[in-house]
Amino acid sequence: MNDTVILDRKADFPGLLTPQGAAWHYLDTAATAQKPQAVIDAMSRALGRDYATVHRGVYARSAEMTLAYEAARRRTAQFIGAASENEIVFVRGATEGINLVASSWGGASLKPGDRIMLSVLEHHSNIVPWQMVAERTGAAIDVCPLTEDGRIDLDWLEANLTPQHKLVALAHVSNVLGSILGAKRAAKAAHGVGAKLLLDGCQAAPRMRLAMAELDCDFYVFSAHKLYGPTGIGVLWAREELLDAMPPYQGGGAMIDRVTFEKTTYAPPPQRFEAGTPMIAEAIALHAAIDYVDALDPERLFEHESGLAAQLREELRQLNSIRLFGPEKSAGIVSFAMEGVHPHDLGTILDEENVAIRAGHHCAQPLMDHLGVPATARASFGLYSDESDIAALLRGIERTKRIFG
Ligand code: PMP
Repeated sequence: MNDTVILDRKADFPGLLTPQGAAWHYLDTAATAQKPQAVIDAMSRALGRDYATVHRGVYARSAEMTLAYEAARRRTAQFIGAASENEIVFVRGATEGINLVASSWGGASLKPGDRIMLSVLEHHSNIVPWQMVAERTGAAIDVCPLTEDGRIDLDWLEANLTPQHKLVALAHVSNVLGSILGAKRAAKAAHGVGAKLLLDGCQAAPRMRLAMAELDCDFYVFSAHKLYGPTGIGVLWAREELLDAMPPYQGGGAMIDRVTFEKTTYAPPPQRFEAGTPMIAEAIALHAAIDYVDALDPERLFEHESGLAAQLREELRQLNSIRLFGPEKSAGIVSFAMEGVHPHDLGTILDEENVAIRAGHHCAQPLMDHLGVPATARASFGLYSDESDIAALLRGIERTKRIFG
């Protein structure tokens, strides 16, 4: 049995009840996390009595909003162990963060003959932007295989990186298998051949204590909505010198220094990459989400969720009709298949039992091809998950077994 860390925070999350007030066993946190009341309140205040634009207004409310927006940037920098708030670019989400790096850094740095290293388990958002920039620049893409238990094979990576590789882009935690990357080893391998390392931190940021200096990557991206914050905002982290050397991604207001029809000069980063009116209320709600998560301690969240994942894997193993995917040590995400039952059918029956899992390819079709399945069922835990969610899932699986004979 595991020493599961008990957090007991369900009461903070109004989304964990059905409209009738029954318990809703939400096991789709890897897709998006439910929000604590503190985040909902922060968002509501920011859109209500505090609302105004930022960076431009001469009136007090706008000046206060600007302070709150920039305080969110400082808090984010502190939360992920960045050296300065100037290393934090607010983007729409991880997807936009990766597109920004691919388009700006990739567009300016890649040339024919260069290579980009991805892995089999990447989310489509860490594949397609690289394919687009590879097509534009003439660079080529290589794919790092997985170990038998579904981790990125760092032995293979170390043996196969070459000076032609200019970028390595990997998931810090897999959204399908929960596999955890040996990030420092990946950084050493990438830097050893002079390549930059981008880490997709979507699933790691809500579950691990992050320290950018220690990770030693070059770019880090994540989405606020998986970190118990709102949709519509995410973070791209990179060192200031690197951001400073990158051309703008989008043009518009707020990212300029001086505009004339002859020539426009750009603001320094991070403003250079934040064209247009930013996500004001969302940044403030992200600040509240970070305060909430930080107070609970990301290291405890990791223990809590990986403990629940280990427990679920153990229980599923007892039912001998289940195929489990991924490594034994998972960051709170468990993918499985039930013999003779399509994951969508399982998901539909579980929904009748107030259990929400994800069924599908999880935006990782190359990984599905590798596993030899069109889809998996995925249960993913959050800080509010507990053993009652596992019990409800197991009851639903038993019922599905009876229905399918
Ligand atoms: N990478 C990973 C590992 C993810 O889990 C997700 C979201 N499922 C993304 C990238 C994309 O994040 P978003 O849709 O919030 O931009």
